[in-house]
Amino acid sequence: MSVALPTDGVLVDRYGRVARDLRVSLTDKCNLRCTYCMPAEGLPWLAGPQLLDDDEVIRLIRVAVTRLGVTEVRFTGGEPLIRPGLVGIVTAVAAMSPRPRISLTTNGIGLDRLAPTLRAAGLDRVNVSLDTLDRERFTRLTRRDRLDAVLAGMAGAAAAGLTPVKVNAVLMRGVNDDEAPALLRFALDHGYELRFIEQMPLDAQHGWDRASMVTADEILATLRSAYDLIPDPAERGAAPAETWLVDGGPARVGVIASVTRPFCGDCDRTRLTADGQVRNCLFATEESDLRGALRSGADDDELARRWRAAMWGKRAGHGIDDPTFLQPTRPMSAIGG
Ligand code: SAM
Repeated sequence: MSVALPTDGVLVDRYGRVARDLRVSLTDKCNLRCTYCMPAEGLPWLAGPQLLDDDEVIRLIRVAVTRLGVTEVRFTGGEPLIRPGLVGIVTAVAAMSPRPRISLTTNGIGLDRLAPTLRAAGLDRVNVSLDTLDRERFTRLTRRDRLDAVLAGMAGAAAAGLTPVKVNAVLMRGVNDDEAPALLRFALDHGYELRFIEQMPLDAQHGWDRASMVTADEILATLRSAYDLIPDPAERGAAPAETWLVDGGPARVGVIASVTRPFCGDCDRTRLTADGQVRNCLFATEESDLRGALRSGADDDELARRWRAAMWGKRAGHGIDDPTFLQPTRPMSAIGG
């Protein structure tokens, strides 16, 4: 364990973890209403002046990339494709030196149209969320009849070279937990890389229940009824997904088991919300206000200093299984998943 907050250099915490991966939420709004994420009527959205404008987003990312050692920038939300300035932001980040890898987590709606432009702007790859292949189920789960648009978005991303296209799926008991093998078949047939995410206590409705969530062990057991899975020999590093080779490989499937197999000890992430708050964990209960500092005239050194101080306070683990665990007040859609 380190004892003193560093005054320069990378984003390190007192346990020696270094954050290289920055998740940037570009909006808290979304054009879907996934039942496990948002209520049907939406949420009280951040007001316009609360949101960082494009230049402010770019400036904070530049501080992270050029002063704090961030090497990977992932845009998320809400739904990042609905941010009007997205292409300009990607272009500016791709011009930074050293150039970070740039990716995007999206529900895929509109991606068929936008993928070539985003690729040309410098986007490297995408993660697209898809929890079911059944149209009626999709409509019930997301409260929108947009399955075709999501599938077209994935295909458009692959055609534009935003690869590997990773597919994120959350399984819920009695809702879509019978679909794991079909989702994997779909991903294998299309050359996408599927990752199942254990459902986490981050929903605005506070409906998450540890006892009924679908666990990594269950997901793997269901997949093994249809496929041969062997642990991926590749080094995992700080990746949230644990991966398996499917039927001898090279295709892989991943499980992000944040709840039952937490990987906090290897976490290399830092997060910036759409309203300019730094969070050092999805489950953090504290945030550091970079927007206020930036708008009151802080220079880049000062912004970097505040970011380092925020990282220094990162807890050893998210503590979901701790009896004192408190769900953060911000839901997933307002943090950036
Ligand atoms: N709108 C984009 C999308 O659909 O990918 C980006 C934001 S969304 C919050 C990012 C990811 O978080 C999605 O894959 C979604 O399924 C996942 N997600 C949302 N709520 C979750 C929860 N409570 N537990 C686990 N994953 C969740």
